[in-house]
Amino acid sequence: MAAIELKNIVKSFGDTAVVKGIDLNIEDGEFVVLVGPSGCGKSTTLRMIAGLEQATSGDIVIGDRVVNDIEPQHRNIAMVFQNYALYPHKSVKENIIFALRRQKVDNQDIERRLTEVSEMLQLEALLDRKPADLSGGQRQRVAMGRAIIREADLFLFDEPLSNLDSKLRSHMRTEIGKIHNKFGRTSVYVTHDQVEAMTLADKVVVLHDGYIAQAGTPMEVYLNPANVFVAQFIGSPS
Ligand code: ADP
Ligand code: MG
Repeated sequence: MAAIELKNIVKSFGDTAVVKGIDLNIEDGEFVVLVGPSGCGKSTTLRMIAGLEQATSGDIVIGDRVVNDIEPQHRNIAMVFQNYALYPHKSVKENIIFALRRQKVDNQDIERRLTEVSEMLQLEALLDRKPADLSGGQRQRVAMGRAIIREADLFLFDEPLSNLDSKLRSHMRTEIGKIHNKFGRTSVYVTHDQVEAMTLADKVVVLHDGYIAQAGTPMEVYLNPANVFVAQFIGSPS
């Protein structure tokens, strides 16, 4: 059974279609990267999987459920956004455990998970601080911690590293790979950065103007681009 199935997904805003019929199967445990230039429909596609946007037509299946009419909070997903979306007035600790409190996870379990996640992301010394007192990289780690601690089946990432400088970006890329390997969850990761896509992905999905231009392993896409757009975007040898 596929973890996620997108069946002929279309999304229009007014009269303008921005996602134009996407079919995609994502397997359990797979790290799939949606990559493509700005405006090609990556975030919209991810937001439909998350339930933050409704598809205009088509079906989204997660596990064994068609989730078209299921609210985001009931989709068993955790999402990391580009702008981190932290609560400014809450401490790092409260930011990380907020969703668990709301889900009525018991305190002992919350503390156990918090310890594990803080160690993994080196957040121990930051737990009492407010987001405003953190660097960009630290905020990003808090946003990751908040997602991981939910122990959701599915992780969604929307350009989580694009606000970081290049050194930190490459460090966090490695960290995300490690987290994925440790938890083995299915991940869908959106980026416009080809290097990020090729490094992280089990499967790369190249989007172009609302369509899938090509989907395959990084090697397949790199060595055997389906068309000129993919070749140029990925930087395949000519
Ligand atoms: P990407 O993440 O690949 O940069 P998006 O999915 O954010 O692209 O956007 C795809 C297209 O849809 C863009 O042209 C964008 O302007 C448009 N779009 C996205 N969200 C909305 C919205 N809420 N209303 C109208 N147009 C939108
Ligand atoms: Mg986007």
